[in-house]
Amino acid sequence: MTEGTDAQDAVPADGERARRARPISFVVAIDGPAGSGKSTLASGLAAYLGCAHLDTGAMYRAVALAVLQRGIDPTDARAVTAVAEGLDLDVGERVIVDGEDVTAAIRTPEVDACVSHVAAHTDVRSTLVGRQRSWARAQRGGVVEGRDIGSVVFPDAAVKIFLTAEESERARRRAAERRVAAPAGDVAATLARRDAFDSSRSASPLVVPRGAVVLDTSEMSAPEVLAAAIALLPAPESRKDPEYTFGYAFLRNLAVGLARAVFRVRVHHAERVPQSGGFIVAPVHRSNLDFLLAGTAVRHRKMWFMAKEEVWKSRRLGKFVEAHGAFPVHRNIPDRVALRRAEEVVDNAGVLILFPEGTRREGPMVEDLHEGAAYLSLRSGVPIIPVGIAGSDRAMAKGSKFIRPVRVDVVVGEAILARSVSPSGRIPRSAVRAMTEELRVALEAVYAEARTCRRSRSHVRRMTRK
Ligand code: C5P
Repeated sequence: MTEGTDAQDAVPADGERARRARPISFVVAIDGPAGSGKSTLASGLAAYLGCAHLDTGAMYRAVALAVLQRGIDPTDARAVTAVAEGLDLDVGERVIVDGEDVTAAIRTPEVDACVSHVAAHTDVRSTLVGRQRSWARAQRGGVVEGRDIGSVVFPDAAVKIFLTAEESERARRRAAERRVAAPAGDVAATLARRDAFDSSRSASPLVVPRGAVVLDTSEMSAPEVLAAAIALLPAPESRKDPEYTFGYAFLRNLAVGLARAVFRVRVHHAERVPQSGGFIVAPVHRSNLDFLLAGTAVRHRKMWFMAKEEVWKSRRLGKFVEAHGAFPVHRNIPDRVALRRAEEVVDNAGVLILFPEGTRREGPMVEDLHEGAAYLSLRSGVPIIPVGIAGSDRAMAKGSKFIRPVRVDVVVGEAILARSVSPSGRIPRSAVRAMTEELRVALEAVYAEARTCRRSRSHVRRMTRK
């Protein structure tokens, strides 16, 4: 993996200093003109890699919106720079400026017409570039899209991709995105004007960065573009989990193999599990077997988990579980040490399994989730993978000491991305709450899907028996 060399990085404020001092381990830089498919590719790649994604265009747009709202002349370099320096900017799936959600407001024709003027000022660029590098340090890398990412912001990025497409196709996509009827008219003209301006300005113009691979997406679907980009990533071996040792793999495969045989486990959508990087596996919890069953979906990675500290009363048992990824948690107090340990796991590109329901529950509903998974995800910029497990409550019900060899279906949900990771490192309570709710909805859905898969398997079996 390549490390960024960003010597003139902005000095981070407050207690985030130590965090920021970590190296940027893996950046994928995606550049290209408007409508070339950067955002779609960037979010797809981030989900695949299990890392965060930053849309730097949204940062320039946020500054342009603030400039318009304050009635400032966009060509006034000093005034625009002062705005850029003073903004509290939080760019994720939602774009929050000074506490206000401007996600929709930054994508209007007025902002389209103003943003390139704002982005042409050298001092505005250095302010935002500093924030972009700070973001990457905090996330330990990620997928970053823009106009100057591979050329200026991260010239040492591990992978550089330059997306392009025919002008008419880009205009058509942009019109569809904005739900505008005619792509030919204003949309195409604004797009062409903006491209010309971005490519000819003196400060960090839009260029194909040295070492970038150019992909013309005019005749490619989004999944085709993603597949082409995945093919450019370094070989998985160089991203191999160093904790997945021979001893761990041997016991893991033995346990998982046994579970698969006894419960005839079917894993649905295993391809949604990220191939590398840190992430949190968040399964529903209906049985003591859930840890093992969730493990059937995660291959070639060591899984870390919290275990009640009573386990360590027996030194031998403590040592054994520790070797298999456990670390102690006090269950009746907010255990900061355990939380810090969990954070270290995902920060070091490890896989953490956390049961957001906290304890085993009953019934189809998913309710009252603990907020730890969302907090960790937002803090470390790693995705949460929801997992539904159907049948484990029958295989070993709560209170039961016996195992029944019934069928089990495991459904892996789409990754929930850490959307509102703030470049300032602050995590608003509202973001933790919103992400926890998103996880709750996703868990309920994957659990329902797993039960449906299980029912239909039982149905087919009954039919074939008749
Ligand atoms: O990507 P998007 O079209 O939202 O970007 C809006 C504008 O922001 C671009 O036209 C360009 O002027 C500016 N920009 C930039 N450098 C970046 C990202 C965007 O100058 N890295």
